[in-house]
Amino acid sequence: MDKKIKIHDLEVKYRVVQRKVKYARLEIKKGDLLVVLPEGYHDHEKIMKKHQSWIYNKVSSIRNTIESSKYKKLKLERSDGELKDLVNSLVEKFSSELGVKVNNVFFRKMKTRWGSCSSRKNLTINTLLKYLPDNLIHYVIFHEMVHLIEWNHGQKFWNIISKKFSDYQKIRETLSIYWFTVQDYIENGDYHN
Ligand SMILES: [Zn+2]
Repeated sequence: MDKKIKIHDLEVKYRVVQRKVKYARLEIKKGDLLVVLPEGYHDHEKIMKKHQSWIYNKVSSIRNTIESSKYKKLKLERSDGELKDLVNSLVEKFSSELGVKVNNVFFRKMKTRWGSCSSRKNLTINTLLKYLPDNLIHYVIFHEMVHLIEWNHGQKFWNIISKKFSDYQKIRETLSIYWFTVQDYIENGDYHN
């Protein structure tokens, strides 16, 4: 059953579950809190108190993102085939810009990310990207391909990114907003443009 706590001005719904884990952990799901405790451990209040400011910041930020997601427009007319054509042409363009070589580009519906890059130089692209504006698709493909030069998200990585996308911080924020817009559309289908 869902319970509630109040942290400053914020009311947070939470649920406590016990699982076979070593350490307690906190997860934020759609703006609510899930407290995962190791079996036999019951003091959820202690851990919630200890991480109160983390919960506050995380929940506020996700709620803001979800709120903004209601105002984003999706590109519903783009087909899977059109997305593939666009991505493949971007891969070709960025390959010569970055001096890298991609082996294969795979497309599938992914539940946690827009794209990924493997050590075998394969890109996997989330087909849900088709709903996003072109500039965000450009960014995702470029980002994944920069991983062929820099594996980690360190300073070097962001330096390369910023040469092409100086506003990359804003773009990343917009991408997380769109994540919720797209999820809402897939789950409820009652999208109004
Ligand atoms: Zn990355």
